[in-house]
Amino acid sequence: MYYLLGEKLGHSYSPQIHRHLGEYTYKLLEKAPDQLGDFLKNGTFSGLNVTIPYKKSVIPYCDALTPIAARLGAVNTIIRQSDGSLLGHNTDYFGFETMLKRSGLQVQGKKVLVLGTGGASQTAVAVLQDHGAQVVAVSRTGENHYGNLFLHQDAAVIVNATPVGMYPHAGSAPLSLALFPQLEGVLDCIYNPTRTKLLMDADTHGIVAMNGLLMLVAQAKEGAEWFTGRKIPDERIDAIYTTLQKQMTNILLIGMPGSGKSTIGSLLARKTGKRFVDADVAFEEKVGCSPAAFLETKGEAAFRALETEVLAELGQQSGLVLATGGGCVTKEENYPHLHQNGSIFWLDRCIDSLATQGRPLSQATPLTKIYRIRAPLYARFADYKVDNNGTPEETVSNILHIWEEQL
Ligand code: NAP
Repeated sequence: MYYLLGEKLGHSYSPQIHRHLGEYTYKLLEKAPDQLGDFLKNGTFSGLNVTIPYKKSVIPYCDALTPIAARLGAVNTIIRQSDGSLLGHNTDYFGFETMLKRSGLQVQGKKVLVLGTGGASQTAVAVLQDHGAQVVAVSRTGENHYGNLFLHQDAAVIVNATPVGMYPHAGSAPLSLALFPQLEGVLDCIYNPTRTKLLMDADTHGIVAMNGLLMLVAQAKEGAEWFTGRKIPDERIDAIYTTLQKQMTNILLIGMPGSGKSTIGSLLARKTGKRFVDADVAFEEKVGCSPAAFLETKGEAAFRALETEVLAELGQQSGLVLATGGGCVTKEENYPHLHQNGSIFWLDRCIDSLATQGRPLSQATPLTKIYRIRAPLYARFADYKVDNNGTPEETVSNILHIWEEQL
């Protein structure tokens, strides 16, 4: 039996990843600090992954450490050897190195800022130093801190090894990328959300932006090799990474009212096994009144404010197909909510074919006028524009083709 050992585990992707890696049983195991020693001394297990906050505190219970675990002073994998003794190892090094290599960023001789000074930071620093980078660890309390970042405007790469921007506190970033004119890329150890605010900023700057999912999968692959004693080809990392991305990412539909978002959305959900959510229905569930009725009585400004709350809640979930209301693009702050975990598709449909029944805004204003105002906003939000003048099946097939290609 294998476990992921931590204090509070919540939702973890690790059991899902390990199911793809071997035939062994892998479960989550929460232990309070005062239960840790007894479990490590007397517990029944063949191997463990160890996470926050125990990567250091398990070390005294290990009979031996691998050189990399000793160097990092942190253990994230424990293997029970044939004589019953416990070997402590660290697979985060391999995980981060895999992420760095896959990013394509060359760090030799360049300045790299590593944000945070915890476990992930120590791992990143070791890997980056081994790759010849000039590493500066930035700490809230250290010599290099967020108040004197101007000393490091020549940074080529930034690694976020803090929890800033992580679910459920997405939307914040540890620093502004505008300070770094020579920046080539950002690596964020966070994998939930898929795109932190920092990574969205990197996208905006047109530089490399990579999240921590590949690191997570790669470290698990090396852990599985230690558990089973069998080499697993590195290609499995990519296969599992793609599978997880398919499951986790949201497909978001934007477009004019009546452009077919609900029809296409429910078909897409059926094809992908994702959960379909209609933002109008979610609005009604939250507010107790349909968007149309709310708009008529309370007006558009009040409606848009509540709509943003609904989208913020939905956008942080994963594995959804979400049909949004036609006007959600009129508020820029909705963009990060929608984009953080998914790809945005603009369903474009000929104005004459748009349905207007039960849509007060479409009935009050000529559709051509609404379209003229909104088309640039749909373009701003959309990752992809998809024609929806053919059959629903054709549109769904186009979207799935694009979505799978970009994964
Ligand atoms: P940790 O040991 O708790 O360290 C986090 C560090 O971030 C702290 O030492 C602190 O450094 C800094 N920090 C904490 N709160 C902050 C805040 N509000 N503002 C600015 N800095 C803050 O955690 P960790 O294990 O290193 O994990 C860090 C992140 O990496 C987490 O999001 C975790 O999920 C992720 N991670 C991902 C993987 C993966 O496989 N993808 C693996 C490990 C960790 P200072 O006090 O020096 O500022």
